[in-house]
Amino acid sequence: MRPPRTPILAVCLTAALAIGPGVEAAEGLAVAPLAATARRAGLRLLESDHLVLATDRPVRAGDGVDDLPRIFDEAFVCWCGHYGIEPAAVRDWRAFGCLVVDRERFRTAGLLPPTIPDFAHGFCDRNRFWFVDQSNPDYRRHLLLHEGGHAFTLTIRGLNTPEWYTEGIAEFLATHRLDRDAAGVERFVHAPLPARAGDVEQLGRIEELRKRRAAGTPPRLAAVLAAPPGNHHAIAAYASSWAAVVLFSQHPAFARPFAAAERGPLDADFNARLAALPGWDMDRAAREYDAFVADVDYGYDITRMAVDWSPGRPLVAPTRVTVDACRGWQNTGLTLERGDRCCLAARGRVLLGEVRDPATKTVTPIESEADGITLRWYRGRPVGRLLAAQWEEPGGKPPGFVILGAGATVDITAATSGPLYLQVNEPPGDRTDTTGSFTVEIRSAP
Ligand SMILES: [Zn+2]
Repeated sequence: MRPPRTPILAVCLTAALAIGPGVEAAEGLAVAPLAATARRAGLRLLESDHLVLATDRPVRAGDGVDDLPRIFDEAFVCWCGHYGIEPAAVRDWRAFGCLVVDRERFRTAGLLPPTIPDFAHGFCDRNRFWFVDQSNPDYRRHLLLHEGGHAFTLTIRGLNTPEWYTEGIAEFLATHRLDRDAAGVERFVHAPLPARAGDVEQLGRIEELRKRRAAGTPPRLAAVLAAPPGNHHAIAAYASSWAAVVLFSQHPAFARPFAAAERGPLDADFNARLAALPGWDMDRAAREYDAFVADVDYGYDITRMAVDWSPGRPLVAPTRVTVDACRGWQNTGLTLERGDRCCLAARGRVLLGEVRDPATKTVTPIESEADGITLRWYRGRPVGRLLAAQWEEPGGKPPGFVILGAGATVDITAATSGPLYLQVNEPPGDRTDTTGSFTVEIRSAP
């Protein structure tokens, strides 16, 4: 969370640092006096180049709290990279964070003013923020980086954007995993779309999006972009905003213009700036968002799953197409009219990965033909099975791919008028070690 724009912040914004052309940053609060106040109040202080962290959490060996300032500094370098800022240009920037067990300790010390709302998990005011201690170290670290991301964007970038970007970018900048370096030290690795549930314990964003999709009420882009200030109280809102930032920053059709927009003014007109970008197609963005939310999962690779929406040509003669097993929905280049019937016959084998047996040290490849293998199932069907679908936008129901048939030999009837899509059934996160393709012959049904 962050505070609404207040007069005090408006005053603060008048003192600006030059970061880049057309970009001004707000001056933050002086950190040294806050640190001195915390020290006098008997709070523990942990410091790095870009963070002073004050906490009333008792020292506990192995809880990871001592590592937080170093990880914050590693994230800071990544955030600079995201906005194309040379870290040397902001080398003196520091935030003051409070890791809070007992809010009263901070109130009494004068470090939690009465003007700050009674937040649930965290809150940011310029380069000062608070986050409530958590039993889960991963979630505690995520909250630090979420509020720290606000501090960075509010002050260094002078952010005053619509709510979806404000919260979405904080979630985006905070999402990470820890990898050990050669010396065994855990390092921050930005992972905007987590590969495993274990990377983002207790966040639940992907689960929330899938739950809403299953309930028939997925978030829609237009509503997400128009969300009013103060809308972010539930995980659903964070998940929807994060999904928009992830999609725009990773999708090959949007990543470049989105990055250009992010490096310009982050002001209240940000939505209009996006819509006016050369090549920015808001209708396509809305459709891509629908497709992303429909299939989002751990390890989802937006480039690999990107959809070609071109209309295609009619099926006038038997046609062969190739379906790459490692990609998402693939446009066959053929368009069907609603009610058209056709037959699909697939040939070939694909490699879906391998199974390693540590006991015998054997590696067994997992191969599949287009009927799939029942060793594993995904979304109610065996992995490896060929799926045929069309994109449907029915009024009153959420748009999405409707599966018309599945398997090596299948007859389908078009549910709508539009292109025919094929893909091999597999969880998105398992596609990194998938290779091979099926050859599919498509002919009109007699
Ligand atoms: Zn926030």
